[in-house]
Amino acid sequence: MIDLRSDTLSRPTPAMRRAMAEADVGDDCFGEDPTVNALERRVAEILGKEDAVYMPTGTMTNQVAIRAHTEAGDAVLMDQSAHIYLLEAGAACALSGAHPKLLPGAQGVFTPADVAAAVPPRHPYFPATWTPPAKLLCIENTHNAGSGRIWPLAQLRAVCETGRSLGLRLHLDGARLWNAAVATGIAEKTWSEPFDSVSVCFSKGLGAPMGSALAGSAQFVARARRFKALFGGGLRQAGIVAAAALYAIEHHRELLLVDHANARLLAEGLLGLPAIDTDLQSVQSNIVVLRTTRAPAGELVVKLFQAGVHVLPTGRDTIRAVTCLNVSKGDILEAIRVIRRVAGG
Ligand SMILES: *Cc1c(COP(=O)(O)O)cnc(C)c1O
Repeated sequence: MIDLRSDTLSRPTPAMRRAMAEADVGDDCFGEDPTVNALERRVAEILGKEDAVYMPTGTMTNQVAIRAHTEAGDAVLMDQSAHIYLLEAGAACALSGAHPKLLPGAQGVFTPADVAAAVPPRHPYFPATWTPPAKLLCIENTHNAGSGRIWPLAQLRAVCETGRSLGLRLHLDGARLWNAAVATGIAEKTWSEPFDSVSVCFSKGLGAPMGSALAGSAQFVARARRFKALFGGGLRQAGIVAAAALYAIEHHRELLLVDHANARLLAEGLLGLPAIDTDLQSVQSNIVVLRTTRAPAGELVVKLFQAGVHVLPTGRDTIRAVTCLNVSKGDILEAIRVIRRVAGG
């Protein structure tokens, strides 16, 4: 089976498992796990922030950030297809009482005007009590539901500047910020610079079995540690898994370029099929979104599964294929042959 459903399927390598087996550990709730502490310091350094805190999942780092930045009833601005909005079980509403206000981005990328339009007017004749106060703006880079689209840096900065001028705090969902960094040659800390908080995942393309980190000012991270505990995220000898993340950020970031080349190869190999629309231009990192033009996506996904290629139906007519370190160039060439045969090219 060639499994292209998600980069979360990436498995720890033998060298990573060795690093895990040899990790120095302690009780993280007491701040005494040396490997977790080393990971937090290293992530803060890479992201150019004062501190960072390790947590089990990216959903938790995003949701702790929202909880730390807002009060119940506040509006949080984000793209209409943001992971925080679509794929985090409604946690922003349930855990923080936050009111998502959706922006009309293109593959997750929106404009300063979109941000300005979403913030209620301040005017003596407009009752300020009618609208939830806009407190936080979230940006996702790369954008998962947008084919792994990478924000143009200038546009990201302009959007952040507008948000700042409107009094918003700024959060970056950088689950795949590593991919944006290697694809553009722009360092993670440059991408992170405008933001109050940044969330990154180790469990996607980097290949660690689990874990995410949330970075920001020392004061913000101290507050985040309180909500990590409140959400049940207190860890004990987490150095075992933090060691995998430390290993991954030192050894696997450059490898993401191979995933990007493989995603591009897949998209190019599927061009010209009448049953599948492939937008080559939208493939900027490790995610390929295919649009079915003849059969519903779900039907084609079943046929492909039976033929040995596992992909994810993400909508009525959309299929997602993702590359990661489990998937070789040979796998991609084979997947192209199977998809072309099954889709009837
Ligand atoms: C995967 C992902 C998350 C959440 O990470 P989990 O560890 O699965 O909770 C958040 N944002 C984006 C963009 C992601 O792709």
